[in-house]
Amino acid sequence: MSLPPGFLDELRTRTSLSQVVGRKVMWDMRKSNQGKGDMWAPCPFHQEKTASFHVDDRKGYYYCFGCHAKGDAISFVRETENVDFMEAVEILAREAGMQLPAHDPQARQKADRRSELADVMEQAVQFFRLQLRTAAGTMAREYIDQKRGLGAEAQERFEIGFAPDGWQNLWDHLRAKGIAEDLIIEAGLAKPSTRQGGKPYDTFRNRIIFPIRDPRGRCIAFGGRAMDPNDNAKYLNSPETLLFDKSRTLYNHGPAREAAGKGQPLIVAEGYMDVIALSEAGFGAAVAPLGTAVTEAQLQLLWRIADEPLIALDGDTAGLRAAHRVIDLALPLLEAGKSLRFALMPQGKDPDDVLRQGGPGAVQSLLDQAMPMVQLLWQRETEGRVFDSPERKAALDKALREKIKLIRDPSIRQHYGAAIKDMRWKLFNPRRQWTPKARWSALPEVQTATKSSLIVAAGDAAQDHLREAVILAVLISHPDLAQEFEGQIEAMHCLDPDHDALRNRMLRLLAEEISPGPEPMAAALGEAALEKLFAQPHLRIVPALRRPGDIELARMTVAEELAKIDANRGLQAEIAEAAEDLSGPADEALTWRLGQAAEAHNRAAHGTGEDKAEFDLGDNGARIDRREKDAFDALLDKINYAKRQR
Ligand SMILES: [Zn+2]
Repeated sequence: MSLPPGFLDELRTRTSLSQVVGRKVMWDMRKSNQGKGDMWAPCPFHQEKTASFHVDDRKGYYYCFGCHAKGDAISFVRETENVDFMEAVEILAREAGMQLPAHDPQARQKADRRSELADVMEQAVQFFRLQLRTAAGTMAREYIDQKRGLGAEAQERFEIGFAPDGWQNLWDHLRAKGIAEDLIIEAGLAKPSTRQGGKPYDTFRNRIIFPIRDPRGRCIAFGGRAMDPNDNAKYLNSPETLLFDKSRTLYNHGPAREAAGKGQPLIVAEGYMDVIALSEAGFGAAVAPLGTAVTEAQLQLLWRIADEPLIALDGDTAGLRAAHRVIDLALPLLEAGKSLRFALMPQGKDPDDVLRQGGPGAVQSLLDQAMPMVQLLWQRETEGRVFDSPERKAALDKALREKIKLIRDPSIRQHYGAAIKDMRWKLFNPRRQWTPKARWSALPEVQTATKSSLIVAAGDAAQDHLREAVILAVLISHPDLAQEFEGQIEAMHCLDPDHDALRNRMLRLLAEEISPGPEPMAAALGEAALEKLFAQPHLRIVPALRRPGDIELARMTVAEELAKIDANRGLQAEIAEAAEDLSGPADEALTWRLGQAAEAHNRAAHGTGEDKAEFDLGDNGARIDRREKDAFDALLDKINYAKRQR
């Protein structure tokens, strides 16, 4: 229904917000000034003893200085009565003595048709309910009682029924009551026969029936579970009708909304049986989508009921896949305060199974452990994969960044970025996994003053120093990459204090901004420091700096130099440790470890064939000249060679 222009303004004018709010709060009369319509009370949206909730009656707005809840009379009614926008308007209009606008003739007709259809559906509910009690319903009754353990009360509450086997049971019943043929068909209860002159036939045959009601309580559809195990549709819903839009409907919507309003967690289960079982176990705010996956419209409905619905899913592959679909759907829709959590049931079990085996406590503990969306997102991208190369880590960063980019709300995007960074740090922290061991403190510190003699002393440490400069310079020239490599830059131990300071400033900037451009980057790092960095002569031969637009080349350069520093230091640390251990008898583990470290060092220093194939062809398909790329390495080799010649 659409409202005519001016209706809402009129409604707001006629409504006294302090009157509407006054039903839910106790005014702090010392703080309030009634004459001015300036009212204060303890906030109805958060727990507090002081009065931080302010109503400006003249403007018709409220604002809480504690939890920042704000809005007008309509939003206040929506929030406190747990109803949707139109329902809130209806409530307020009734109180203000305003007539809801007359529908336009076509809408009027449609509404009339809808209520006719709803009447037919109601008759069908009665028919199905009765059939469950007849002899024909014996097997269905047994299934519900014994297999599902649903007592008379639950059957009553969910109006479970039975559609007997046969082609025209419901049809004949409704026709005998004088209901027009086209109404029965339009309600989706029967389908026209394909045979010439044939009688329409019942949609639901030999099925246990679950009425599906809209939030206002009208029966808009049925769900049917086949009694015959060989039926090719185990579950069947009504076809879409004027009443029933599958993608905008939630099973048990009305009762769940009411229960959620009383503080129950909103649980999204997979099917009717789960919802019924959960409700019976005391989880009254349970709903289910009708069909396979949750839709965008359903997500919006869920968020109107609760800020953080819990999606309960099978812990199997199909369940996870469904969860991932929901994540992809939800990411762009996230707004402040609205999110999802995922409660994964043990493999192969649904909430109904869990309840029967472990009781409500078992479900509660699964709900308590429900994962925030960001964690499931992380798990999807990382689980079962090995990130043993910079390329793979970069690919992970890229995939996660693509996902985070989908979030439209900038503040949420930032929080997701931060959470992901945190998890990435934990995953890649070299001290927590076996990579060639990094014993930074054992390495010789190189002072700035000794820089001029670096090349003379050129050992691995000096090489690392040169590599640090390359990494920083390339990242500064390609700020987008800095974001991508953030975790690794953070983990990098800079030998040069100037490099260290630059790196730290870069990290601070990245913490503040999602993707800093070149100017903010330069400004944050300081001109003098940048000049000093770029004055280092060896940077002049780095191709990634000579061709600043080539992001693939830049990415590859940073990844390689990081890996080489890592491997280099790892090898040194291993050797140092081995030297200690060697005072005792050499064992196989030690030999193996040294071998691994050396291999990692070689792999990083020279690139394996496999790496090369990935490297040589950039993402954009452009060929990258590896010889050119290797110019820097060639220089380092020369330095090393010169050193050995001495
Ligand atoms: Zn508040």
